[in-house]
Amino acid sequence: MTDRFDGNFTQQEPIPEEAIAAALEVMRHGRLHRYNTAAGEAGETALLEQEFARFTGAKYCLAVASGGYALATALRAVGVKPGDPVLTNAFTLAPVPGAIASLGARPVFVEVTEALTIDLDDLVARAGEARVLLLSHMRGHICDMDRLMEIAEAAGLVVIEDCAHTMGAEWRGVPSGRHGKIGCYSTQTYKHLNSGEGGLIVSDDAEVMARATLLSGSYMLYERHLASPPAGVFEGLRMETPNISGRMDNLRAAILRPQLARLPEKVAAWNERLARIEAGLADVEGVTLVSRPEAALPVGSSFQFLLPDRTAADMTAFVAGCAARGVELKWFGGEEPVAFTSRYDHWRYAAPARLPRTDRILAGLLDLRLPLTFSPEDCDMIARIIREEVVKLPAC
Ligand SMILES: *Cc1c(COP(=O)(O)O)cnc(C)c1O
Repeated sequence: MTDRFDGNFTQQEPIPEEAIAAALEVMRHGRLHRYNTAAGEAGETALLEQEFARFTGAKYCLAVASGGYALATALRAVGVKPGDPVLTNAFTLAPVPGAIASLGARPVFVEVTEALTIDLDDLVARAGEARVLLLSHMRGHICDMDRLMEIAEAAGLVVIEDCAHTMGAEWRGVPSGRHGKIGCYSTQTYKHLNSGEGGLIVSDDAEVMARATLLSGSYMLYERHLASPPAGVFEGLRMETPNISGRMDNLRAAILRPQLARLPEKVAAWNERLARIEAGLADVEGVTLVSRPEAALPVGSSFQFLLPDRTAADMTAFVAGCAARGVELKWFGGEEPVAFTSRYDHWRYAAPARLPRTDRILAGLLDLRLPLTFSPEDCDMIARIIREEVVKLPAC
């Protein structure tokens, strides 16, 4: 019998009832704007910031309108100016170079390794070219953060972490996003918390966070925050920092707070599913699983593997074969950008130089989402289908 999978790769779990109740409450009282609070009321957004600061162990947290907005705000808050080069890894999603471009700054791409993380040797070679590194933990793969921070410190690079895929992940027990100066997260539907759109910024740097808060559009009401630097830090900055509106609202924050409380459970559920797929493909000839350093605790909200040294025709046939059996894979080697799958050379505004090592890896890279609506048994079936379709490929 031939397996056919009928799960939906983009179907998230429902919003928990407790979150729906909290959202209804906000709608009933009508105070959706974060600074529209009744006497003695903190507001859902301020409470979310306080809880996320606690979750990450950061001194300060700011909730904003999207993950991309969080990245752009972080770049502004550390003083990136139009024309400045900003280093970033070549394997990332379009909003990352987009955030750099939104400041009129220039993305400079660094090669990636077979572990799908930034190539630290290439980073050493390029570290002198910029003052800031926007490090994207793309698809939850975390590089050797100890070595990365050593390189950054030696070169005087400010590190901003894009944790859109690593909320809840860790490096040596430290939450992802807490190694660089700033950590940025997304609460967009396809990430680890779901408010449709949304973002979070954390840092221990008071001046950077005061600037980020003013940038987000705090209308001099920053004293209503619960996870923000003391008012005195804002003194010299409040007239010098433009308001680039991008706040979070109380409705989204209300939906997020109960989800945040459940995040550790969700991380465990994702990692169980990731382990099932990886076990199912562990000894398949022609399939290379992506290695992870022992110090990294991932969040298995997606799964990647490599079919190295295949022709484009083989890759296309393989993706079609899996799709015919209900397994939706994204291939990163395509010539044209498709949906969320984009490649650094598709971002022509950045005039990217060719990166031969990255090209080789992307040419064999396949990606699938693992929504928590899939059961562990679903993951076994997905692995089985992938294995059977790999066997059908011509020998290479
Ligand atoms: C989704 C995503 C972002 C941006 O998040 P949005 O909330 O959609 O703006 C940034 N980086 C990566 C790697 C992402 O996947």
